[in-house]
Amino acid sequence: MSVYSLFSDDTARQESRASLNLERATCLIIERARQLVNRLVEDRGHDKPPFLPKEFALLQGIKEIVKADLGEVSAVLLRFHDGDIIKVNANHPPVRQNFSCAHEIGHTLLSELKLEPCIEDIEFRTFNPQARARARARAKERLCNAAATELLMPEMVFKKYLSGFGVSINLIERLASIFRVSVQAAAIRIAEVSIEPCVALLWRRTKSKALQLAWRVGPGGKSRGKAYYIPVHTHVRCPSTLHKAYQYDSPVKSFKLFKLDNVIKRLPMESKGFGRGDARRVISLAFLGR
Ligand SMILES: [Zn+2]
Repeated sequence: MSVYSLFSDDTARQESRASLNLERATCLIIERARQLVNRLVEDRGHDKPPFLPKEFALLQGIKEIVKADLGEVSAVLLRFHDGDIIKVNANHPPVRQNFSCAHEIGHTLLSELKLEPCIEDIEFRTFNPQARARARARAKERLCNAAATELLMPEMVFKKYLSGFGVSINLIERLASIFRVSVQAAAIRIAEVSIEPCVALLWRRTKSKALQLAWRVGPGGKSRGKAYYIPVHTHVRCPSTLHKAYQYDSPVKSFKLFKLDNVIKRLPMESKGFGRGDARRVISLAFLGR
């Protein structure tokens, strides 16, 4: 399928390669992932989660998903004339395996759409070939992650569950289990598509026992609103309400100062600790309109 065949003839004529930036490429691959979701929903006759990679694999001509010991690697896509094979790291948790497989299916969508040459031509104007190669690889991985997110947590279905339950920190685990994704992936998806605007944040503990902000995602997703929704303090010393979330399993409520478009605002935030040992982290949801 050509990149532009998703659009009407008029739109296709107007859309030149030069206008295809990474954001546009992201829209195209998400649109393609949606078509695959729609086909699956039609085939099964319902849109109940989970949406599992093995179901999409059949539709995408992937003949097998094989669990293997891949060391540090999450998954690989092996392309053959008679159908592709995905090898996924058997030592990773099942939810991570799901995301890794969906990411590899994203690679098949990326090559169908022939987006790679466009990314190469348009997005990176540096003359350093190594820097170009790295930036290109990062862009490809981001596009495949966007596709994986739409495949495992289709926006329309995810939104239905969100509005049915109402957004709260306790919802993260519930949605993660319904959609068979990690709590991190579910938290990011909530921030991306929730009708009630909120920011998802992840905190990790440093050697000095402070909690350090590892990432944040606001409405519209990772690529949008980068300069917004920044907590004024990204390093929180012990003791604090956030540390209580780290130490105990029950959720905590607090307020936090955020920089929103150069204005400082105090937002209500709910936080909860997830995982054990070295993998322990705190996820927060800050609500922009409460
Ligand atoms: Zn990849």
